[in-house]
Amino acid sequence: MATSSRKAGRRIRVLLPLPLESAYDYRLPPELAAGPGSFVEVPLGGRVSLGVVWDAPENPGDPSGPIAESRLREVIAVKPAPAMHANLRKLVDWVAAYTLSPPGAVLRMAMSSPSALEEPTAVSGWRRVAGAESRITPDRARALETLGSHILPGTEIARAAGVSMGVVRGMASVGLIEPALMARAAAFPRPIPDFAPPDLRDEQQLAANALREGVISRAFGVTLLEGVTGSGKTEVYLDAVAQCLREGRQALVLLPEIALSTQWLSRFERRFGAPPALWHSELSSRTRRVTWRAVAEGDAPVLVGARSALFLPFPDLGLIIVDEEHETAFKQEDGVIYHARDMAVVRARLEAAACVLVSATPSLETVTNAQEGRYAHVTLPNRHHGAALPRIAALDLRQHPPERGRFLAPPLIEAVTETLARGEQAMLFLNRRGYAPLTLCRTCGHRMQCPNCTAWLVEHRAQRRLQCHHCGHTEPTPLACVECGTEHSLVPIGPGVERIQEEVSELFPEARRLVMASDTIPGPAAAAEAARRIEEREVDLVIGTQIVAKGWHFPHLTLVGVVDADLGLAGGDLRAGERTMQLLHQVAGRAGREGGTPGTVLLQTFSPEHPVMLALVADDMAGFLRAEAAQRAPGHWPPFGRLAALIVSSEDPRSAERAARDLGLAAPAGSGIQVLGPAPAPLALLRGRHRHRLLLKAERGLRVQPILEDWLARAQIPRDVRVQVDVDPVGFL
Ligand code: ADP
Ligand code: ZN
Repeated sequence: MATSSRKAGRRIRVLLPLPLESAYDYRLPPELAAGPGSFVEVPLGGRVSLGVVWDAPENPGDPSGPIAESRLREVIAVKPAPAMHANLRKLVDWVAAYTLSPPGAVLRMAMSSPSALEEPTAVSGWRRVAGAESRITPDRARALETLGSHILPGTEIARAAGVSMGVVRGMASVGLIEPALMARAAAFPRPIPDFAPPDLRDEQQLAANALREGVISRAFGVTLLEGVTGSGKTEVYLDAVAQCLREGRQALVLLPEIALSTQWLSRFERRFGAPPALWHSELSSRTRRVTWRAVAEGDAPVLVGARSALFLPFPDLGLIIVDEEHETAFKQEDGVIYHARDMAVVRARLEAAACVLVSATPSLETVTNAQEGRYAHVTLPNRHHGAALPRIAALDLRQHPPERGRFLAPPLIEAVTETLARGEQAMLFLNRRGYAPLTLCRTCGHRMQCPNCTAWLVEHRAQRRLQCHHCGHTEPTPLACVECGTEHSLVPIGPGVERIQEEVSELFPEARRLVMASDTIPGPAAAAEAARRIEEREVDLVIGTQIVAKGWHFPHLTLVGVVDADLGLAGGDLRAGERTMQLLHQVAGRAGREGGTPGTVLLQTFSPEHPVMLALVADDMAGFLRAEAAQRAPGHWPPFGRLAALIVSSEDPRSAERAARDLGLAAPAGSGIQVLGPAPAPLALLRGRHRHRLLLKAERGLRVQPILEDWLARAQIPRDVRVQVDVDPVGFL
């Protein structure tokens, strides 16, 4: 024991990518060189873990006292990878503190490709042996000419020279070529800022100049770029990306649905002559490794990604774009619960970078920040080429009821008929997958419900199955009611896109139809193919869920019918109106994007007098947001106050309820603070866990984190109960 206390080396802190409360102490042996940010291998229990050398705490004095010198374990190795920059380490700490997550859980998001920490293996190829000229055949001559003075892999020589691999091997055996290590090619070619820029219109140029200046200043600043769909927002922010490239800094573009963004990607390539690097959950592990490493080494000048891209190791980030900033897809709802739009602003501040939030329908949060002067605000009020905005009308379902058992009202059917007769395309939007959201027994009234969730099972008729959209539970659609046993008594209630497609196939049997939903368009390839078919007019009628709302550009589409415009309003949460308005506006924006053909949008609704419908019809988003603000401000609802939710869950219903009640009893009190609940969550059962919710509301000047920390410290949470903290909640289920 005594001998080990005199080991050499210094004490360092290492943060591990595990849900631990803090960094652990280790000894760095003198023969290893590592500083803050170095990636290291350390022993942990009986195994080896990766970690990052972390900064010394600002106020040392661990309550449990530092671990004794003699018990310190040694760092095993330092990984051959660029150290994690101080800015990213600060972001990890910041996000952890803000979301009340263990720092290691946040670090894990920044270490999303552990294999990228290894030295990339050099690739071997072949080069010409100087002076060797014997036994040259025509094939070999061609191959040697192709090779020239380069080093190329054998397969590449064979392909480019049009010879077989046998020829290449033969050349090696007679000594015409010899193996050589290739310089590692840049994984991502540099996009060229001036490859094919558009001629920006006056108002676009003004907006672009404002963003450019933000990039040139190399200082933190946030700008809201607001403009109707088709006004050229993308062209304008790509101009800022070009400026960032000229500055030699990296640019990050966050898109809410990267897998559906094929049109965006080909447009980028046309504009810059090279594709951007990509980051999302569907990448192969090899692509992840190469991309992560390229980012860390500064070799990925522009990266386009989903929210997780925010935690990539950019050494010199100059610009972050958040496109469709209002999208709820930017909120991560499990693990570390964070909002990528808000954390993008934080990262930009840490990096002294420009941040641009882009939307046709910005969130009330962002608009308020702009109005109060925290964000700059540039607008593009007109569509490019003066294309008219679509004419939006509400279609009152009380006056124009669909036929019994049908969902399309006569005026909508008529509009589709006319559109198709003109040879144009129409789209029917319904934000519901499957055939019917509810299956009911006509005889006994039994409703088919998920065994694990408080949710009806959704019928997917094509697969003859019922499916839970929360937990993925599926079962074959029964022939007889599971409750009363009556055969052929189960009936579908309400429509999903499959049912609309069925109705349309009877109404317009000649029309070529395409259903776009996450189950029919599972990935980027399918999305690209669907977009191609629509663009090339192989499709007359598109029936889709919210995936059709995403930034598509369909030049021949002139009619959009919204089957159930009231759908999103039912939930009644804080932002139900705002979100419905944003979604429907975005769907409406798909209509009539080509100059000359004005689009028409029909909203089927039972409440045409609802503020959301009035705002859409009058094209008055600003007025709608003013009314929203006037409603939220007095009660200190966001963005005029702060919210944090506690979600208490357990497999044991009584444990969950008791823990929620105890948390309710320990609730903080004080001026400017209010606690709502506990109450059973709307999704009272989810994936087999019983759930209760509490909501902390605080006035704007208060910080909720210390209040939450105190609160959680006062309550006794049994081991079988989980309490999730959701700061700035977006969903309330
Ligand atoms: P938004 O992002 O606001 O929806 P986009 O940037 O996608 O708008 O522009 C809509 C369409 O108009 C795109 O096809 C785009 O390439 C084109 N466009 C916009 N501005 C210009 C311009 N100045 N010159 C040429 N084409 C433009
Ligand atoms: Zn379920």
